[in-house]
Amino acid sequence: MTEHKNLVLLGSTGSIGKQTLEVVRQYSDRFSVVALACGSNDQLLEEQIRQFRPSYAVMYDEEGAKRLKDRIADLEVTVLSGMEGLCTIAALPEADVVLTAVVGMIGIRPTIAAIQAGKDIALANKETLVTAGHIIMPMIREKGVALLPVDSEHSAIFQSLQGNPKKRMRLIYLTASGGPFRGFTKDRMQHITPADALKHPNWNMGRKITIDSATMVNKGLEVMEAGWLFDASPEQITVVVHPQSIVHSMVEYEDGAVIAQMGVPDMKLPIQYALTYPDRLPMEGNELDLFALGQMTFEKPDPEVFTGLALAFEAFRTGGSMPTVYNAANERAVALFLEEKIGFLQIPELIEKAMRSHTVIANPDVDQILAAEQECYEKIDSWL
Ligand code: NDP
Ligand code: MG
Repeated sequence: MTEHKNLVLLGSTGSIGKQTLEVVRQYSDRFSVVALACGSNDQLLEEQIRQFRPSYAVMYDEEGAKRLKDRIADLEVTVLSGMEGLCTIAALPEADVVLTAVVGMIGIRPTIAAIQAGKDIALANKETLVTAGHIIMPMIREKGVALLPVDSEHSAIFQSLQGNPKKRMRLIYLTASGGPFRGFTKDRMQHITPADALKHPNWNMGRKITIDSATMVNKGLEVMEAGWLFDASPEQITVVVHPQSIVHSMVEYEDGAVIAQMGVPDMKLPIQYALTYPDRLPMEGNELDLFALGQMTFEKPDPEVFTGLALAFEAFRTGGSMPTVYNAANERAVALFLEEKIGFLQIPELIEKAMRSHTVIANPDVDQILAAEQECYEKIDSWL
């Protein structure tokens, strides 16, 4: 008998959320959706509700929740709003797995609510671990729930660890495509526009993470995410640029064996694996053609150009509230860049300035993390 799972999906209208629902549609005999949540896109949420028939829907935005209620007045769906709504559905008694695919630190409280209620977590929302890993990881162990990575690199590391002793892991090779500006000099980067940066060569993702890929701040966040997920020190994580995006990351063991997970770049595989682990279900149309690929290459990221990456290692080593400042400063800077208020190179500059002006709190609780985020936003706004 196959195990049936009830799923709560936070961020269903986003890039990861929509792909998760494609997986669920494919395997509707295995998964039911009990709750969906998004920020403000009531139109798409309505479509998803009509198709997947959850019992609950959350719109973070209050006005949006009112619009949604009108749209689905003919259905028996409980509509909630705000952080309270997100935390309520994350802890629903009938839920088995909570997949968190919201963008930003908004994911922290619902993830904690889900863990406290004993739910397994499928985690796409990397900002949660980056900023609150010191709270989340001990809680995961204490509650004995599973934390399954959805981020493709972390899924690859997780897959490369299967059947091997974790204590024999020497190194993680975290692969990066290098984004659209691989090989650029700083000079060439001066005039990059949002439209340039939103064109990712291999992956089709949400806007914020696409810009993060172009600056390689995404890789910086992933270094910290890997540190928490796999209990790895900064020295144990090596970022390697691999423009073909076929090797999704690797683990090197003490005997020198390097185990990698490869495949075409398609988020549906790590999403599906997180939901079906340890099983592997058929997925059509994503066969890797090695002969068409021909070759794979690996190179070092240029530290002079992608300064955001070195800053991430620094934030990781410092710990405490510093990763929050790294993340929050980046979030604000990316928003300002997309509004064409700052240039591309100012993104890492603002992150650095915010980090330099921050007084670290060693072991921040959730309130302190969110306060540090807010303070960082305000500081950046005051500088401009
Ligand atoms: P998107 O911007 O495409 O989607 C974000 C989702 O979060 C949307 O459903 C959005 O709703 C929802 N959301 C935003 N704010 C709130 C809020 N306050 N309350 C509830 N929901 C909210 O992002 P992605 O799907 O690209 O990324 C999601 C997460 O997954 C990020 O943390 C990212 O780093 C990570 N990730 C993404 C990958 C990818 O391939 N896209 C790969 C690996 C990790 P609405 O539509 O209403 O705004
Ligand atoms: Mg990734």
